[in-house]
Amino acid sequence: MSQQFDVIVIGAGPGGYVAAIRAAQLGLKTACIEKWIGKDGKPSLGGTCLNVGCIPSKALLESSFKFEEASHDLKLHGIEPGKVKINVADMLKRKDGIVANLTGGIGGLFKTNGVTHLAGKGKLLPNKHVEFTDHSGTIEVLEAAHIILATGSVPVNIPPAPLMDDLIVDSTGALEFTSVPKRLGVIGGGVIGLELGSVWSRLGSDVTIFEALDDFLAIVDQQIAKESRKIFTKQGLKILTGTLVKSTEVKGKKVAVTFASKAGEQTEEFDKLIVAVGRRPFTDGLFADGCGIELDERGFIQVNDQCETAVPGVYAVGDVVRGPMLAHKGSEEGVMVADRIAGKHAQVNYDTVPSVIYTHPEVAWVGKTEEQLKQAGVAVNIGVFPFAASGRAMAANETHGMVKMIADAETDRILGVHIVGPAAGDMIAQAVIAMEFGASAEDIAMTMFAHPTVSEALHEAALAVHGHAIHIANKRKRA
Ligand code: FAD
Ligand code: NAD
Repeated sequence: MSQQFDVIVIGAGPGGYVAAIRAAQLGLKTACIEKWIGKDGKPSLGGTCLNVGCIPSKALLESSFKFEEASHDLKLHGIEPGKVKINVADMLKRKDGIVANLTGGIGGLFKTNGVTHLAGKGKLLPNKHVEFTDHSGTIEVLEAAHIILATGSVPVNIPPAPLMDDLIVDSTGALEFTSVPKRLGVIGGGVIGLELGSVWSRLGSDVTIFEALDDFLAIVDQQIAKESRKIFTKQGLKILTGTLVKSTEVKGKKVAVTFASKAGEQTEEFDKLIVAVGRRPFTDGLFADGCGIELDERGFIQVNDQCETAVPGVYAVGDVVRGPMLAHKGSEEGVMVADRIAGKHAQVNYDTVPSVIYTHPEVAWVGKTEEQLKQAGVAVNIGVFPFAASGRAMAANETHGMVKMIADAETDRILGVHIVGPAAGDMIAQAVIAMEFGASAEDIAMTMFAHPTVSEALHEAALAVHGHAIHIANKRKRA
């Protein structure tokens, strides 16, 4: 007889491992199948996020920020650190140590919560059976009352720039450069392009970003996107929008990139090229014939708001389903599904998913942009507070950027908060909480914030919604 579980999760990224832990916490007999092999050749948990995504990229962002700060910014404070050097091998070793620590930690959490970890591949069979193939090739058929698919996503490749050794790389390769490339090209001016472009730019690379769309950060509120572009350009990132890469050619240790824009066609040579044009849902080899799962036209597993697929008892969460490809979104879906399986009420509020770009300063937002609301014909009041007027930001020499709050003109309910500036990624949590509780701009305006903190900018933006900001001349905007 096949091994039986209450829940089988396929994939142990932030969607899958969180779902598995929650299910086990709720008393369900749970197994999690994961195929990832780490850099040490051993099975690894945590998926894209822990192995080659959120965590290693943030480790390099922190290291490169410290290097840049020590090289340029400390002098402003009267500190003269002398000649600063970067040891790339040590920087990568530190990153790998953090990854090993965290991925190993998931194994520990599985043990303490009683999740059975099955290292190998999972395949969905009809009638809620799962074929599990371990890393030695041994096949076992398992059975579960509930199955959660959490197989994540992989980078998109484009024909003009096929990956080539360590010269043309995706985001995973860009975490592993063993020296600082003199000239670095990046295709795609999105989240990965900006974060990893910033890492190597801070360490001394001359970085050019090729973005196909005319708008920079098209999904971001355009006032914030324009301000961000100014800041990043000042930092040295060369951002070419409306520019399409036509072809690439490896010439010895260099990559020649031919690109077209309104200015015509040009070719430039780079030492490395990163392709960061988005990710696609990963379901390769996941389904046996007749298992009944439906994909949409872009390859995402079709689910409803509760992450249920067309097959009763089979769910899908995280990057493999619609919505933003973000770790926390997948985790919250995992929790919701596990809770619902255990008979609890649970729902994800997709209106309050925060997004953060971990550049310096960070870009963060939640809710609707001014453009989206305008298009929907919603009348709004907007309050903006620049960090240039924040005492704490001045003390920290972090005066670039602003907080923008958008509230419904009729009800005053907060519909969106958009920030580029210091600690934006942490500050946005305050806006998420406010929006979760259905707060109005006035609620935030009437709340006391500690002085001096950068969060006061959120308070002032809320005051500015009604033309009452204290530390700026109010230019109240009604749209
Ligand atoms: P994944 O993390 O992709 O996990 C899916 C897992 O399923 C993988 O481990 C895979 O091996 C496994 N799997 C697939 N098929 C099978 C199978 N048949 N059998 C067994 N196992 C299988 N998001 C953020 O929120 N914040 C960030 O700062 C951030 N930074 C990022 C930086 C980079 C460079 C990248 C690439 C991504 C980043 N992301 C970030 C996105 C984030 O990593 C993803 O949104 C998140 O990992 C999705 O989680 P998931 O569980 O859906 O899928
Ligand atoms: P993205 O969607 O953020 O950006 C891709 C960019 O490439 C877009 O601006 C797009 O217009 C552009 N593009 C697409 N095709 C192109 C082409 N042929 N030539 C030039 N430009 C082109 O995708 P990404 O940066 O690859 O990141 C993938 C996913 O990973 C994102 O959905 C993101 O949510 C997630 N991620 C999140 C974080 C974070 O939360 N901080 C960090 C990294 C990645």
